[in-house]
Amino acid sequence: MKVLEEKIREEGRVLSEGVLKVDAFLNHQIDPSLMVQIGKEFANRFRDNHITKIITLESSGIAPALTAALELGVKVVFARKRKSLTLTDHVHVAQVYSFTKQETNEISISKEYLSEEDHVLIIDDFLANGQAALGLLELVQQAGASVAGIGIVIEKSFQEGRSKLEAAGVRVESLARIAELADGEVTFLEHTAG
Ligand code: 5GP
Repeated sequence: MKVLEEKIREEGRVLSEGVLKVDAFLNHQIDPSLMVQIGKEFANRFRDNHITKIITLESSGIAPALTAALELGVKVVFARKRKSLTLTDHVHVAQVYSFTKQETNEISISKEYLSEEDHVLIIDDFLANGQAALGLLELVQQAGASVAGIGIVIEKSFQEGRSKLEAAGVRVESLARIAELADGEVTFLEHTAG
């Protein structure tokens, strides 16, 4: 997605060879018109898939998930993160190791908002090693729901997230695919569509 790649080039900051900071438009300050364009692009890619619900992870997944949901005419549920293990019987729970924070969080979604009748699109801001997406996938599986695919705003293609998700049989659609972060520069894979 060209407009997103340009935004990343202009406003993203390469913190290291592994981490890109996009606080200027996605992870702290949010650019609403970019979010609307991102939502439309996700909706176009999944329009024929009979999605009934979008799920994401708080907090940075919520903005792109919301605009995609508005386009598809479905609701969004964001999984909540918490540190301590509290067993409750009304929530689906999975463990997720955070790439950026280097800690394990428990993520959960109420059983009330995700059921076996749902056909789900999972959306997240970044794909690195795939832990967040796999955790969300696990929540969907616990609910007995089905998955149409995973929509990612920024994929770091040099990490193993995509191959793990594809190995699990899940369709991955990323709007920007980064081949390399080096010397303060972002290099995209050549065939990023949109
Ligand atoms: P994964 O679970 O795929 O290893 O990492 C994805 C999660 O870690 C995303 O939800 C995102 O919050 C965070 N993340 C991973 N890599 C980056 C990065 O380079 N920049 C930012 N801003 N967040 C990242």
